[in-house]
Amino acid sequence: MNAIKNIIVLGAGYGGITSALKLSSLFRRHYNFRIHLIDKNPYHTLKTQLHEAAVHKNEVIIPIERIISKKNITFHCGTVTKIDLANRKVFTEDEAIDFSFIVIALGSKSNFYSIEGLSDYSLPLQSYEDAENIYRHISQLCAKASSDQDKVSRREKLTFVVGGGGLSGVEFATELSDHVTQCISNYRLEDDELNISLVEAADKILPNVSDYIRNRIATKLQSKNINVLTNTRITHVNKDEVFFSNSKSLKTGTLVWTGGIRASNLIRESGFKTGSAGRIIVDEYLKAKDFPFAYALGDNALALNPATGLPVPAAAQFALQQGRLVAQNIYNDIYGRQKIKYIPKVLGEFISLGKHLAAGWLALPFSKKLSFIGFLANLLNTAIKEKHIFLLRKESRNWITY
Ligand SMILES: Cc1cc2nc3c(=O)[nH]c(=O)nc-3n(C[C@H](O)[C@H](O)[C@H](O)COP(=O)(O)OP(=O)(O)OC[C@H]3O[C@@H](n4cnc5c(N)ncnc54)[C@H](O)[C@@H]3O)c2cc1C
Repeated sequence: MNAIKNIIVLGAGYGGITSALKLSSLFRRHYNFRIHLIDKNPYHTLKTQLHEAAVHKNEVIIPIERIISKKNITFHCGTVTKIDLANRKVFTEDEAIDFSFIVIALGSKSNFYSIEGLSDYSLPLQSYEDAENIYRHISQLCAKASSDQDKVSRREKLTFVVGGGGLSGVEFATELSDHVTQCISNYRLEDDELNISLVEAADKILPNVSDYIRNRIATKLQSKNINVLTNTRITHVNKDEVFFSNSKSLKTGTLVWTGGIRASNLIRESGFKTGSAGRIIVDEYLKAKDFPFAYALGDNALALNPATGLPVPAAAQFALQQGRLVAQNIYNDIYGRQKIKYIPKVLGEFISLGKHLAAGWLALPFSKKLSFIGFLANLLNTAIKEKHIFLLRKESRNWITY
């Protein structure tokens, strides 16, 4: 009898869960292969909606057991502590598992760029736990401000800084504005005491959108009393103050950091060849350089777009596409079939702007873009996010409510 061979997927985020489900379908009658999925949490996080979770607007976690209940996937809830590529073994705090193929889909974490005090005094928004921390922190500050008789210290409590003017920074700032404005009104405080600043080192926010959409978004941010500070770097941070490159500073107890991401140190420590932001360098089939049995995808992989030669951005839409392709390529590898080259399909980009509003664009043929802003954009944005849930249900063959 053939020995059982393990195919292990590390990380049950967008790319990992998609890859595991597809592997499970491809290998469903190949009884000498076993599919394993490892994640530190027993749930799949809808990371693209974390800004909503940070103000308790939406549920963003789906228990893994519901996704895999009808699939031949063995789930291990544990933190991966070591990937031994020489001996093809993965270690968690509880166990060691041998593998014949491995998929690295561990996502990313905040990059603090060695800015003094930033990792100690800022709140990252990269996980469900981060979103819960932010919610608790904001709720406490609003409640404390409501009984604070000192105008200066009350203003300080109601001063919020969001570091990073990319998609997640803009989305979070708008949710924050809606949420805190409502809290302030509930506590019968003056809303002119609220100060939200969105700080960006580059000369513009949202570098991937057209000037037309950016200008429309800027108007929306203004209407939500969000001050956008471009060309402004955060130079250092302490417990109650954020300092900027223009020699100014803001007294605040809240700095939410969305200004950059990098791959986990575990990747480099395992011996993978890494590029910018510590991401694993992969070839056109998403195979890690020098390790023919290891594939990498999503935020922790550095894949190049063959059309432009540029790195594929860290985004859920690409992690999902890569997850399916990697599963197919492992299957093709094992059965001696031609592997498929990765060509990213850019579908568009939508930015939610709080209550019933969004802005963005859909990709059209011949590199054309169709822009949307307002209610319709919000419907499209919601539809894109719902599509992921729909596909999860379809691929897991489980139509129960998540
Ligand atoms: C607030 C916010 C809004 C966003 N909005 C959008 C958007 O609108 N559109 C878009 O395309 N992208 C968006 N993104 C980016 C998108 O979420 C990521 O690109 C996407 O999640 C990457 O998928 P992934 O599978 O690579 O990693 P992830 O989805 O991050 O999954 C990684 C998984 O690995 C697990 N893990 C990590 N380390 C370990 C370990 N040591 N041991 C065990 N498990 C581990 C984690 O628990 C997690 O489940 C947003 C991101 C944020 C933070």
